[in-house]
Amino acid sequence: MALTPLSEALEAILATAQPGSSIETVQLTEALHRYVAAEIPSMRAVPPADNSAMDGYAVRSEDLPGILPISQRIPAGHSPTPLTPGTAARIFTGAVIPAGADAVILQEDAERTDDTVRLPRAVSGQHIRRRGDDIQPGDRLVAQGQWLQPHDIGLLASVGLDEVGVFQPLKVALLTTGDELREPGSGDLESGQIYNSNRVSLAAQIRSLGMIPVDLGNVPDQPEAIGAALEQAADSADCIVTAGGVSVGEEDHVRGQIEKRGALTLWKLAIKPGKPLAFGEVMNTPIFGLPGNPVSAWVTFALVARPYLIKQQGGVVSPEPRFPVRAGFSVARPGSREEFVRISLVGNGEAMRAVLTGSQSSGVLTSLSQADGLAVIPAGTTVSEGDWLEVITLASLGQPRTGPISR
Ligand code: AMP
Ligand code: MG
Repeated sequence: MALTPLSEALEAILATAQPGSSIETVQLTEALHRYVAAEIPSMRAVPPADNSAMDGYAVRSEDLPGILPISQRIPAGHSPTPLTPGTAARIFTGAVIPAGADAVILQEDAERTDDTVRLPRAVSGQHIRRRGDDIQPGDRLVAQGQWLQPHDIGLLASVGLDEVGVFQPLKVALLTTGDELREPGSGDLESGQIYNSNRVSLAAQIRSLGMIPVDLGNVPDQPEAIGAALEQAADSADCIVTAGGVSVGEEDHVRGQIEKRGALTLWKLAIKPGKPLAFGEVMNTPIFGLPGNPVSAWVTFALVARPYLIKQQGGVVSPEPRFPVRAGFSVARPGSREEFVRISLVGNGEAMRAVLTGSQSSGVLTSLSQADGLAVIPAGTTVSEGDWLEVITLASLGQPRTGPISR
């Protein structure tokens, strides 16, 4: 079977996504990493009134320079009276500008006596934060499909909202396969065993997208057991993710069991790590069969399953940004697949280099754990030190893109 370029597989897979979760209203305190159901326009202006950006004196600029009597004191949270012409109002950061005043003088620039103050010249408007500077009534606060981060929640609160309409989180069934796998915490390994790392790492990837992992545990390499687990998964979730058993070995039973209960498209992706990837449906529930090697599972989830799940969830999908960084390593032999190598960023600005974090074997998690990102090496190319490479940060692979990004 010919290798399929990532972009082609992704396009085909994304085309099958059918967003349409039902909607619920949640308190802002529960809204982190949820997906906005419908765009929200502001009902109010922020700030709600002209207010002072500094501690100082509110004045009419035409009265300055000069020595002015102090006619009132306006702390934040208190309502001023109109400014008497020819006077100054003592004012504090965040306090409302009195009617008639058009400038604030910093207290550092004032010479205060008991009840007068000597003030320098002022420019009309200085140190005043205008009503509606940040948000005008009707402005869009968040877009449909936006993945809510802490600052977005703060933005919604700043106009007085305490709840937000969001999509019901997708339930993603997760099962790993392999007779060799032992659960962490279940004691020492026996000969031939390894600990199951994909189960927790994929569950964490799902959870950090704001979705709910439905953990079906590890299933032995037996066709019937895998078939039964797939049916249970289809019954209990909106999507299914499996890890392991999708390759062409005799012990790889996931593909056959998917085909028996639904439909399968098997891709041999032209990427490294992560060649084998199964996609299809089991009893009308979409399923991703990821490869078992932990880095392959992580990378194929991040590059393929994640965008699909975000779209299915009603979220905003757009390609993750790729930043130009010079290589701090070389690759002498061109590869036949597009390669995503684990790198850390060393140095800053023009001196920044992408340096390999260690072994690039698809089973080696340490080099992923130490990485800032993945550098992309196109198929058929070599790399010399100093060449420009495109880097995708791990941070951008851990989350949906935020904000109203048009496609
Ligand atoms: P497979 O895709 O089942 O052929 O597995 C490929 C490699 O990944 C083998 O070395 C497996 O032992 C390893 N592997 C599979 N599943 C897991 C898992 N859940 N956690 C850690 N390693 C795994
Ligand atoms: Mg296996």
